[in-house]
Amino acid sequence: MDSTTTITAVHHHQRSSNKKEKIIVIMGATGTGKSKLSIHLATRFNAEIINSDKIQLYTGLDITTNKIPFNERQGIEHHLLGDFDPEDAELTASEFRSLAGFTIGDIVSRKKLPFLVGGSNSLIHGVLVDRFNPEEDVFDTGSNADPVSFELRYNCCFLWVDVSLPLLCDYLSKRVDDMIDAGMFEELTQFYQNDPVSQIGLTKSIGVPEFRSYFRRYPPSDTCSDEVSWDWVRRGVYEEAVRDIKKNTCQLARRQTEKILRLRKAGWDLHRLDATEAIRRAMTSAGDGDVFMEEWGDIWERQVVEPSVKIVKSFLEE
Ligand code: ATP
Repeated sequence: MDSTTTITAVHHHQRSSNKKEKIIVIMGATGTGKSKLSIHLATRFNAEIINSDKIQLYTGLDITTNKIPFNERQGIEHHLLGDFDPEDAELTASEFRSLAGFTIGDIVSRKKLPFLVGGSNSLIHGVLVDRFNPEEDVFDTGSNADPVSFELRYNCCFLWVDVSLPLLCDYLSKRVDDMIDAGMFEELTQFYQNDPVSQIGLTKSIGVPEFRSYFRRYPPSDTCSDEVSWDWVRRGVYEEAVRDIKKNTCQLARRQTEKILRLRKAGWDLHRLDATEAIRRAMTSAGDGDVFMEEWGDIWERQVVEPSVKIVKSFLEE
């Protein structure tokens, strides 16, 4: 190829990438604040959100799977969030690719900006790559050649919310306690009451396998709602399930971060936003009421929101 041909080819590539639809992708491990950031940016940039968490696709277990509550969505339209019946077969990565692709087209046609937000990196990869091979597990570290492609079918701006893992695990452990206070155990009791085996889409949700042996021993139908009267054996089985949920949530966060690092290594241009300090502040000053909220909010604003706004702005001006 002579230099003129090369320049023509580069120009052609740039032109075609300029023509691609622009989307914002918000990535990060569970608990890093993706949903919160997405709402903030979506209100600012006239956007709609497409969920890319494979468990949150299904109806049900809203507390257990941490779906953003309706009253926190600030009127922002969410797609593919709790839309699918967990009793139907599990949605495949190919199906998700076409559904998300269709939704992106629809959002763009209404002159709005699509945001892809969620923790399932295999789904994100499947939606974005130019050539998708459903047979391939791109995160399988066993393969020799790097199967992660950096040729993407959209013009993407990647925001990666990152939190130091040991701190994130402490935070997640506390979040599990908060989820239990918010009704996670009651939600799982109901789930086990309604033929859990048939709800294929939700059976892998953290919380379901961990509570299996508890509900086998103490069937949900005769669950004694009065926890005070539980004997020490029952309390022990329950506490073991909660411990496992904490451990597995931390493991999920670690695996998600590893996958994000793999994508970056393969050439995905991820903008890293460090939310460590914000989360640390939120954890250490918990209980100080309004003062803590202000401080926490200030740091979040300065270290995560403001840089994100700048990044998105300059991406949209390109
Ligand atoms: P994998 O191939 O391991 O499923 P993935 O990138 O496709 O990885 P992840 O989002 O990392 O998908 O989910 C992996 C597992 O983590 C799920 O099968 C489920 O057990 C758990 N998980 C993920 N998201 C949630 C959630 N919102 N609530 C509860 N559990 C979840």
